[in-house]
Amino acid sequence: SRPVDPQADDAERAAESALRPSTLGEFQGQPRVSEQLGLVLAAARNRGAVADHVLLSGPPGLGKTTLAMIIAAEMSAPLRISSGPAIQHAGDLAAILSGLGEGEVLFLDEIHRMSRPAEEMLYLAMEDFRVDVVVGKGPGATAIPIDIPHFTLVGATTRAGLLPGPLRDRFGFTAQLDFYDDTALRRILMRSATQLGVRLSTEAAAEIARRSRGTPRITNRLLRRVRDYAQVKADGTVSLALARDALDLFEVDDRGLDRLDRGVLEAVCARFGGGPVGLSTLAISVGEETDTVEEVAEPFLVRQGFLMRTPRGRVATPAAWRHLGLTAPVGAPG
Ligand code: ATP
Repeated sequence: SRPVDPQADDAERAAESALRPSTLGEFQGQPRVSEQLGLVLAAARNRGAVADHVLLSGPPGLGKTTLAMIIAAEMSAPLRISSGPAIQHAGDLAAILSGLGEGEVLFLDEIHRMSRPAEEMLYLAMEDFRVDVVVGKGPGATAIPIDIPHFTLVGATTRAGLLPGPLRDRFGFTAQLDFYDDTALRRILMRSATQLGVRLSTEAAAEIARRSRGTPRITNRLLRRVRDYAQVKADGTVSLALARDALDLFEVDDRGLDRLDRGVLEAVCARFGGGPVGLSTLAISVGEETDTVEEVAEPFLVRQGFLMRTPRGRVATPAAWRHLGLTAPVGAPG
């Protein structure tokens, strides 16, 4: 329930679907990926062929599902959605693949979490559009080859490095999604605001974009919170002052840090003199699990240049002291 969580639950995904761009033209940011993908799809369309398999990698909330939907729409093909964790047996995958229509797009989210036997079946399916279904057990077992329709696999993973090489190599096009700059996030906001019927000033859009941690999912979520605030506290129009008040109420500061992030930074600076402080000590001092501090708070703080992970522990940088409005003691590390 953190306002800056890059992940979404099912209810939020449902709310997001109304805001998804449906063409590459509407898809903001990621200019290189957009251009390259546009070319790959246009070439396949011109040849009257099924598009190459596409691997999308990047942190959650940056648009992998959205791009999979766009690929299907641009190829005028139906989209079938599944995910690695849902495919535990090769038979699960065989059922999905043999149920596809010619030219269909299959989106496999979290593809790195598929079981090994399913993964091996996928190699053959991607390369030869064939699956080997094993009938019987033990020495008498036989593999019966079954042809499946030509399809485009769109795989999504948080890190391409998590995939075994043979699977990675079978994708014709790989796109690494990066965090968005404020200009792209502002454009996403203006489009989402129109769709939600929110009157948003350009200054307010810039303010929300700045606090969105480079992630469109967070941008759209903060916009929904600001819209709620505007509906209750004002006439529905979002000015800069109103956006600031709303985001302050939800404890998202002007660099996108929330209560947990600030708690961690404040502990390192105010309680441990800027560090180095060990992870478990830090976690106890903020009343969180070590995993939460390490996996939820720290990556963003490190990416923003507020925190360093060193062999001796966590160290606050000068930017952290400045951001908290504190003065670093003479000789503070970092
Ligand atoms: P996850 O890994 O959690 O499945 P994801 O990378 O698939 O996340 P999406 O679900 O595609 O992310 O995007 C999250 C939200 O952000 C959606 O509402 C989507 O419309 C919006 N969004 C993402 N990228 C863009 C973009 N480039 N332009 C406009 N909206 C975007």
